[in-house]
Amino acid sequence: MRKMFFGLCVWIFVVAVAAGAPGSSVRCGKLLDVRSGQLLSDQVVTFDADGVITSVAPAGSGNASAIDLSKATCLPGLIDMHTHITGEPSHSGYGGLGISVPRQAVIGVKNARLTLRAGFTTIRNVGADGFTDVAVRDGINAGEIEGPRMRVSGPALGITGGHCDDNLLPFEYHHISEGVADGPWAARAKVREVIKYGADVIKICASGGVLSKGDLPGTPQYTLEEMQAIAEEAHKLGRKVAAHAHGTQSIKDAIRAGIDSIEHSSLIDDEGIALAKQHGTYLVFDIYNDDFILQHGAQAGMLPESIEKEKKIGRLQRENFRKAFQAGAKIAFGTDSGVYPHGDNAKQFGKMVEWGMKPLDAIQAATINAADLLGWSEKVGSLEKGRYADLIAVDGNPLTDVTVLENVKFVMKGGAVARNDFGK
Ligand SMILES: [Zn+2]
Repeated sequence: MRKMFFGLCVWIFVVAVAAGAPGSSVRCGKLLDVRSGQLLSDQVVTFDADGVITSVAPAGSGNASAIDLSKATCLPGLIDMHTHITGEPSHSGYGGLGISVPRQAVIGVKNARLTLRAGFTTIRNVGADGFTDVAVRDGINAGEIEGPRMRVSGPALGITGGHCDDNLLPFEYHHISEGVADGPWAARAKVREVIKYGADVIKICASGGVLSKGDLPGTPQYTLEEMQAIAEEAHKLGRKVAAHAHGTQSIKDAIRAGIDSIEHSSLIDDEGIALAKQHGTYLVFDIYNDDFILQHGAQAGMLPESIEKEKKIGRLQRENFRKAFQAGAKIAFGTDSGVYPHGDNAKQFGKMVEWGMKPLDAIQAATINAADLLGWSEKVGSLEKGRYADLIAVDGNPLTDVTVLENVKFVMKGGAVARNDFGK
């Protein structure tokens, strides 16, 4: 009898697997079609057992949905193209020297969860010590920890003494960051190395930066020749390249070298904007964190020179963001999380609207545009058949008040609910 019962269980299990578990559905009071900008009423999003959307259609009578969000507005999961989930604001100055690489991985586990629960179901992590972002990505993909879909770079490539080196210690410590590579061939070798250890994307430092010691944001670091070598090698191996570039010249050099996205873009000029349009290069402006650096940076341990540098470029970056957007350059949403506390990523939407975008433009930057830059348009960035059921929900209308995205109450990634404050 027991044997028969066991046999029956196995049979049921096999049949269930063969047929595919039923999947489920979500009923949305409103649903934002991010492509058209239309706010559709009373829609049902159905997905299969693999967490892939099978239909989006008006709610019919009869079949009840498993998840009721009929009082909420649904959107596709948000995408942040510039995160540092293994870092914290307090790690940028001398305080960071006491944080081990294994500890950074643990910090990444914490922040991956925070980021997902804030509504960001996909992130591109650009710069992490010791391939800690690779470990976090793999832990998420294995279902061991909670977090967004991740595309990661591992250590950022940069010149000796540049923004992506660590210049805090004197010579006798002989401390060099893992991503340092000078010259076209050394840079090519470094591209191969980070790919060997798990990089999905290559991050480089084209110009100086704010949170580094002894350099200036406007000063070029990698040369055109070095960046051409990096872009060619990365593209050959099927990876895109994101270049940290505040400086006017470095932005243009990076675009001409064939880099795929310009990060920060602070001092871009008219020629740079025209070049970005001509090459189809995405611009990523992290225009929220200026507020955090100026208000809390000193307390977090950021160097006095970093605060001074931010004072000089923060406002210019916002003005140039407006200019680039109005000129029609492609813009993807990226925040530099880790410079400010993780989970506050959506605070940038309000800034983008304050500096010239309509709410829909800002939402598109964090959905369809970001998906395009990732090369993942068929997977994420919209609620359409064939995409992952990555869905968030908020109270209110994000098209009239984009700051409602700072209070995401429901998060689902690939059909699995990560947060549901509506159900409480
Ligand atoms: Zn960054």
